[in-house]
Amino acid sequence: MAEILNGKALAQKMQSELAQQVEAFTAQGLRSPGLAVLMVGDNPASAAYVRNKERACQTLGIASFGQQFPADTAPATLAQAIADLNQDDRVDGILVQLPLPSHLDSVALLNQIHPDKDADGLHPTNLGRLVRGEPGLQSCTPAGVMRLLEEYDLPLKGKHAVVVGRSILVGKPLALMLLAQDATVTIAHSQTPDLAAVCRSADILVAAVGRPELVTPDYVQPGAVVVDVGINRVGEGSTSKLVGDVAFAAVNDRAAWLTPVPGGVGPMTVTMLMYNTIWSYRQRLGM
Ligand code: NAD
Repeated sequence: MAEILNGKALAQKMQSELAQQVEAFTAQGLRSPGLAVLMVGDNPASAAYVRNKERACQTLGIASFGQQFPADTAPATLAQAIADLNQDDRVDGILVQLPLPSHLDSVALLNQIHPDKDADGLHPTNLGRLVRGEPGLQSCTPAGVMRLLEEYDLPLKGKHAVVVGRSILVGKPLALMLLAQDATVTIAHSQTPDLAAVCRSADILVAAVGRPELVTPDYVQPGAVVVDVGINRVGEGSTSKLVGDVAFAAVNDRAAWLTPVPGGVGPMTVTMLMYNTIWSYRQRLGM
């Protein structure tokens, strides 16, 4: 049986530390850190993520400047909202909840967020800082994966890490973060031949694909660390449930370490968003 990488427990620990930091700021008479999550349309999964983020803000004492826009909102309206938030001194972090409705150009909108308020680290300036190994805001999900591996003291130096998925949100930044910790990194994707064999060569295997239970035991080297980023809803109505990209029960017998879904990477993502907001607050206040 694999040991569990418990993202839920680590997220709770980090959130209570972050709440203490916020309390210390306000006790000094400083304003609270502020986060604005912009949501467009009514995608139920996105709405649930936004609610989680707002709840975390409330728990930590972070001021929430969230805005909700109808699905048919014009690009100029969103651009103006972002411009206003860029100027608003109470706001340290801005996040546009993805995916956006298809008439909106998410890249163009994300590029309008000021890099110093780019809470999900997706602005080219922050991605460039990541490539160069400079400090900057880093994408929450891959940063959460790294923090989880660090918490359990899992060695990365010289290890072979295989990241399945090459998105700008998860796969690519995670590969760079693993590289910065001296792992030897392979990025696999939908066009990779014999994906199972590539994955079997991994000491650390990360699945960030969005395919329910793609990773079965024949993808896993015995004793590997397996991180499941995927969140997939399967089934209908009251019988539906969330599963990851890893067939948890089967892989559990083969991996040495494994993240559950839910309770693994998901809670870390929300926590790293809070972490980024406070990091940005400190930078902006010169602390
Ligand atoms: P994406 O759709 O942008 O990227 C998916 C990647 O998987 C692509 O690079 C594609 O090449 C690759 N891929 C697709 N099919 C494949 C296959 N059969 N074999 C190998 N590679 C394949 O998705 P994303 O935004 O990177 O998200 C990936 C998953 O992670 C989704 O399930 C998403 O819901 C989840 N996610 C979870 C969190 C979290 O907090 N836990 C955060 C973000 C995304």
